[in-house]
Amino acid sequence: MKKTVAIYPGSFDPPTIGHLNIVQRGAQIFDQVVVAVSQSTSKKYLFSTDERVAIWKKLLQGIPGASAESFGGLLVDYVEKKGTNIILRGLRNVTDFEYEIQMAITNRALKPKIETVFIMTEGTYSHLAASLIKEIVMMGGKVKGMVPPLVEKELQKKLRNK
Ligand code: ADP
Repeated sequence: MKKTVAIYPGSFDPPTIGHLNIVQRGAQIFDQVVVAVSQSTSKKYLFSTDERVAIWKKLLQGIPGASAESFGGLLVDYVEKKGTNIILRGLRNVTDFEYEIQMAITNRALKPKIETVFIMTEGTYSHLAASLIKEIVMMGGKVKGMVPPLVEKELQKKLRNK
């Protein structure tokens, strides 16, 4: 039987509990979920591409079918190279929706076979955003419960070295 593979792309700078929840639930639907960490050069990241992939690899231990790697260039080309046509994304609110609908339609315009599948955020995680988490940590606030404990440690380490 053909295996269903979903690509979950994002910046994940850093991965939050909300992101992890999407992978866990995606892994219940698809045979494989590949977390695809974007290497976009136009954005400035707190964690390097290698650091974000390394964090994900640790977070995904124990989730059968889930893996992480980085990708560059056009997402649709990468998805095709992985032998699938499924993009997985999370939705938190209307703002996400407006952005996501544009991306999903654009990706289909580029490659008509591509399907973007959305999983609604767990209600308790709908306020979680990587950008906000970074700001809280920079200002000395606590992000316990918003990111996995491993990410909390990595954030503290980053700040100490800044
Ligand atoms: P981007 O790819 O736009 O840089 P992120 O890396 O932050 O965004 O997120 C990747 C994907 O995960 C997006 O589809 C985003 O909507 C989704 N996402 C982010 N935070 C959450 C959350 N708390 N709950 C569910 N989905 C989320």
